[in-house]
Amino acid sequence: MTDKMLDGKVAIVTGASYGIGRAVAIAMAKAGADVYCGDIEPNDENDELFAELGIFQRPCDVTDESDVVGLVEQAVSPSGNLDILVNNAGVGLIKQIPDVSECEWDHVMGINLKGAFLCCKHAIPYMQPSGGSIINLASNAGILPRAHDPVYSTSKGALVAFTKSLALCHSKDRIRVNTVCPGPVENTRMMNRDLESTGDYDTAYQATLAASPMAKAEGRMIDVDEVAAAVLYLAGDAAKFVTGTDIAIDGGKSLGVPPQKQV
Ligand code: NAP
Repeated sequence: MTDKMLDGKVAIVTGASYGIGRAVAIAMAKAGADVYCGDIEPNDENDELFAELGIFQRPCDVTDESDVVGLVEQAVSPSGNLDILVNNAGVGLIKQIPDVSECEWDHVMGINLKGAFLCCKHAIPYMQPSGGSIINLASNAGILPRAHDPVYSTSKGALVAFTKSLALCHSKDRIRVNTVCPGPVENTRMMNRDLESTGDYDTAYQATLAASPMAKAEGRMIDVDEVAAAVLYLAGDAAKFVTGTDIAIDGGKSLGVPPQKQV
């Protein structure tokens, strides 16, 4: 992969104010892409760096179709074309089903699934003339569902299925559609909120490490830049024949937790 592997490409990244989306936006801009970010709330702390890198940002709630249309229209206005869409915006929910309200179900499904649908719906027509790459941020929970967050796991499993279906539908248009499925990623608002919600941050942190064999071996969670590298690969021409895959950047978490002792 070259430094300017995305030169001349136009990219949209949702949920880019913090965490993985922010890292992806920065990596893509450094790789030469014109990057347009939409987040429910832009983060002022990014203003200087984003301006330096030529990254545009605007408020965009991915569950609101008019916001999504506004983001796509801004991205395509200079060239009439869109090359890359990264559906990254997402929220977690650690709750058992009897405790989940209808509103919480709609909130998680709305952002994690409907948001990706709306962005694809409005982005795909601008990719059809020359092809493109859509990367959906799912999760290890989309490959191997978990007991502690059934609504989140369901939203991510559905996103993996959506991805594979779109990959089939749009191969003829040379539009590739893939997921990146991260494991526990450090320095993200989602992970911090999840750990804090347990009431015992340190124990939850260690338990989270223990569930990912490589994270446990390394003694740390995954870095946002390690996830961004996979997104960058899928966005670029090196992945020209890669579609419908899910790339797990989860330290083996989606393989299931191996037994502590061999018997
Ligand atoms: P993050 O730091 O919380 O970033 C997600 C961003 O999306 C936040 O800025 C968030 O804003 C924004 N957002 C929330 N609702 C939105 C909406 N309706 N429209 C637009 N933006 C919205 O989380 P992250 O960890 O980087 O997560 C990125 C993606 O990776 C998510 O899809 C997540 O499910 C996935 N993932 C993360 C991990 C992990 O360990 N962190 C693991 C597996 C998968 P607010 O902060 O205001 O909500």
